[in-house]
Amino acid sequence: MPVSKTDFIRALQCEKMLWLDAHAPELKIIPPEVQARLDAGNDFGDVAMGIFGDYVETTTFREDGRLNYAAMIEKTQALLRDDAPVICEAAFTWYGNFCAADILRKEGAGYALYEVKNSHSARKEFVTDLGFQHFLLRKCGVPVTSCNLILRGDEPPQDYCHPDEPYEKEEFRTHADFRYRIVTVTKGARLADKLASERIFEYGKLKRKDAPMPDVSPSHHCETPYRCWYYEYCHK
Ligand code: SF4
Repeated sequence: MPVSKTDFIRALQCEKMLWLDAHAPELKIIPPEVQARLDAGNDFGDVAMGIFGDYVETTTFREDGRLNYAAMIEKTQALLRDDAPVICEAAFTWYGNFCAADILRKEGAGYALYEVKNSHSARKEFVTDLGFQHFLLRKCGVPVTSCNLILRGDEPPQDYCHPDEPYEKEEFRTHADFRYRIVTVTKGARLADKLASERIFEYGKLKRKDAPMPDVSPSHHCETPYRCWYYEYCHK
């Protein structure tokens, strides 16, 4: 079964979490404050699309309101052929596995990859997210020149990447009344690319209809790096 970047991040925290997403999503409880944060993140991402000036967004919807992934992938390929300078929600698939990159920006003979996060801090899981995208873009033949996080830049960061994956560069930009902090984490993302290549098919199997539920006991991973939405189900 295909794996998305969200699937990958969630399975890395706990394989049972991905299994529940696929087989019993009705058991999840998303606290209202978390949902509000997710919604705010979408708004932040929409504004950040213009951070490098004019751009083309591939987002396409079906008549029933759902995203039209096939159209997005096709549009992305056409934009790449035309050497479009900035592409937002650039969509890629490889063996059905899918990702939409927040921003691709033409850089020399390739593209710089940007992931937008409504956070002040460069966290390890954000770098992993970029690594998954780097893996899929590489498999789709896109030369990725650098991997970057676009973060909030209006307060000092309280967090940091994993010590083994420090960021290589930091810059600040202002756009639409927001101050953004852009950190380059190519080295860390390439490490996470390797992880994606090792685990992507294994995680895909967890989503199969006949896959047994992984035997995972609740532990500290239920709250790290995020409190799991199945916490009540597993801890009852
Ligand atoms: S509550 Fe813990 S064990 Fe259960 S799915 Fe979530 S992370 Fe896994």
